[in-house]
Amino acid sequence: MGKRKKSSRKPAAPRAKDPLDSTFTCLFCHHDKSVTVRIDRKEGVASLACKICDQRYQSKVNHLTEAVDIYSEWIDAAESAQKDDAPRRPAASSSRPQPTRAASAYDSDDD
Ligand SMILES: [Zn+2]
Repeated sequence: MGKRKKSSRKPAAPRAKDPLDSTFTCLFCHHDKSVTVRIDRKEGVASLACKICDQRYQSKVNHLTEAVDIYSEWIDAAESAQKDDAPRRPAASSSRPQPTRAASAYDSDDD
């Protein structure tokens, strides 16, 4: 009785492998999954390209950078590049979800 299993520490369970490449919707041609972000951590660079309209973007990465970071950088860069019109910034960072207003009947479809 009292035979304890010797479990020192659980080995970090390997999560489902994330593919290195990620695809996103293109800002310019609006094709779904046409934008590929490729991160080369060895070189410390990421490149983004749309296979439909051939938009390209490159950025530096660190060990924390993820494909979606490159994608949002690209959006920022694209938007600041085209500020001839009224600057329409989406809520700066997506890290803080905005509480939806209580008015649920208010279905504002803005497009
Ligand atoms: Zn495109």
